Amino acid sequence: MGIERIVEPVQSDSDANEQIIEVSLRPQHFDEYVGQERIKKNLKLAIAAARKRGETIDHVLLYGPPGLGKTTLAGVIANEMGVGLRVTAGPAIERAGDLASILTNLQDGDILFIDEIHRLSRVVEEVLYSAMEDFKLDIVIGKGPAARSVRLDLPNFTVIGATTRTGSLAAPLRDRFGHIHRLEFYAPEDIEKIIKRSAKILETKIETDAAAELALRSRQTPRIANRLLKRVRDYADVNGDGIIDTVVSKKALQMLEIDNLGLDPADRQMLHSIYENYGDRAVGLTTISALTGDEVSTIEDHLEPYLMQIGFIERTPRGRKITPKAIKHIGGKNER
Ligand code: ADP
Repeated sequence: MGIERIVEPVQSDSDANEQIIEVSLRPQHFDEYVGQERIKKNLKLAIAAARKRGETIDHVLLYGPPGLGKTTLAGVIANEMGVGLRVTAGPAIERAGDLASILTNLQDGDILFIDEIHRLSRVVEEVLYSAMEDFKLDIVIGKGPAARSVRLDLPNFTVIGATTRTGSLAAPLRDRFGHIHRLEFYAPEDIEKIIKRSAKILETKIETDAAAELALRSRQTPRIANRLLKRVRDYADVNGDGIIDTVVSKKALQMLEIDNLGLDPADRQMLHSIYENYGDRAVGLTTISALTGDEVSTIEDHLEPYLMQIGFIERTPRGRKITPKAIKHIGGKNER
């Protein structure tokens, strides 16, 4: 997507200052990590057991839409285990040799976080899953007739993989993960807690009603909640005394054109184009992509998960359909 959207759940790297703030807001331990209770319970148990035995925990696969806290959770697990964390991403590991150098540089017990693990190449994927299985690395050294295969011992390590889609992972890789968890969208109360916590870290005063209002417009996603908070805080600093109350938050959100469900002009535009061209009939993703100019992967990973979550888009065997609820929201006539 060309323009940066405020409700875009992926992290933009356009502003270094934003990244520093993002890091400062990131929970370090389970007691600061809001929500996802079932996952926390499972992981706490696994960590306690591993620590008691002096072992590493089983490999963990986290999946779900961007901005829900997968990277944060990997950091929390490393902190709770008291081990080092190495962070990389699928597209960054181009060759088997890149992976070999990462793996051979790990310390015993380290956690290797691989974001977008579904984007690893097949060759790298194969090397990875055999390393995850028995902590050995088979690599071929040299080329042609002089090539020989060597087997290296690796330290014990834990892979935490993050993906927006488990379907794109090869089965043998998926099978190597002992813990597979799907992160859920957050309840408004939890988003409100996150907003209040972040406001405290940013030393900004926010009234409870305003925090609740922001929570409802954050697409049930922590990263968006933090981003909205920062924009509203800017508005409060410039146009008021820096305190965020409902008047300030409403005005700021209006200026950002974010509606009462957290949808921005791009979402509404997408719903409008589908409705104008196809009404409530099913339409394929590539057609939606042609209509809006967004890549299919952007629609699948970033735009539609929340629209599905709130019942605005339905996935059918013949494509995506917008629902009467969505049609009503964008002000179209509901013909059903
Ligand atoms: P993902 O890796 O799933 O894209 P991140 O872990 O980068 O998401 O989370 C984005 C931001 O949202 C983090 O910087 C953190 O501040 C905040 N965040 C995510 N999950 C939580 C949570 N459970 N509690 C509090 N803050 C959270």
